[in-house]
Amino acid sequence: MNEGEIVWNINAIITAEIVYLLHTFVFKKIFISGKININMKKIAEGKTKIVYEDGDRYIIEFKDEMTAFDGLKKTSFEKKGFYNKEISVKLFRILEENGVKTHFIEDLGGNRIAVKKLEMIPVEVVCRNIAAGSILKRLPLEKGTKLNGIVEFFYKSDELHDPMISEDHMRFFGEDPERIKEITKKVNRILSEYLEKKGVTLIDFKLEFGKLNGEYILGDEISPDSCRFWIKDRSYDKDVFRFDKGDVSNVYREIYEIICGD
Ligand code: 5GP
Repeated sequence: MNEGEIVWNINAIITAEIVYLLHTFVFKKIFISGKININMKKIAEGKTKIVYEDGDRYIIEFKDEMTAFDGLKKTSFEKKGFYNKEISVKLFRILEENGVKTHFIEDLGGNRIAVKKLEMIPVEVVCRNIAAGSILKRLPLEKGTKLNGIVEFFYKSDELHDPMISEDHMRFFGEDPERIKEITKKVNRILSEYLEKKGVTLIDFKLEFGKLNGEYILGDEISPDSCRFWIKDRSYDKDVFRFDKGDVSNVYREIYEIICGD
């Protein structure tokens, strides 16, 4: 083999390798992101997320839509689903590293994650560090009062407007409010500490739990849709949209960069 042939052969090998890697990468990207997974069946669609069944797991797709006040106020903006997915993935990973079990399995890129199949309980668990939002309409409290992680339960129902329920109601429905409170307070400690280092105060947040093999596992999302994040006195969450406090798409991009950046 002369020198010219050797160079040609090396070039051919390199070209073949690049074609193979590109093919594998593109195939994986398309297949794993679920775009052509014909086995995936849509099983639920809510205001901001779609759930698909994919064998023994679910795929959650975060939509770009945003709603408030029981769906009466609506908007959408580019990358909203991506920001919420990225923030949820970051916070689920931090919780898992600190011993909180979540439904998160893997990030599929774009707006999608793969999660464990949980049997969800129809309860919204709210934890409040600082008085803001609906508690100000229920109790004689000044906005900004320290609450140090008070936990409240709400029955999840648009029709009934998510009424607040007691721990006895939870027990009546067969749930264990003490265990849920314990996990919620742990989540609060871990997330508050992480966010505080980034200059963000975790004012309050809403969690949803499901059961797997009789154990409570954290499900749903943890995002600016479901938490109040303040930097100094400014909101970096859905309140910006709820109360027309500025450009919500900029605020979501900024809080994504702060929470997910190094
Ligand atoms: P509030 O009860 O003050 O309206 O809400 C307390 C916290 O829970 C806020 O961070 C809010 O975003 C979150 N939250 C309450 N209800 C819902 C809900 O139905 N969906 C979402 N995504 N978050 C909620």
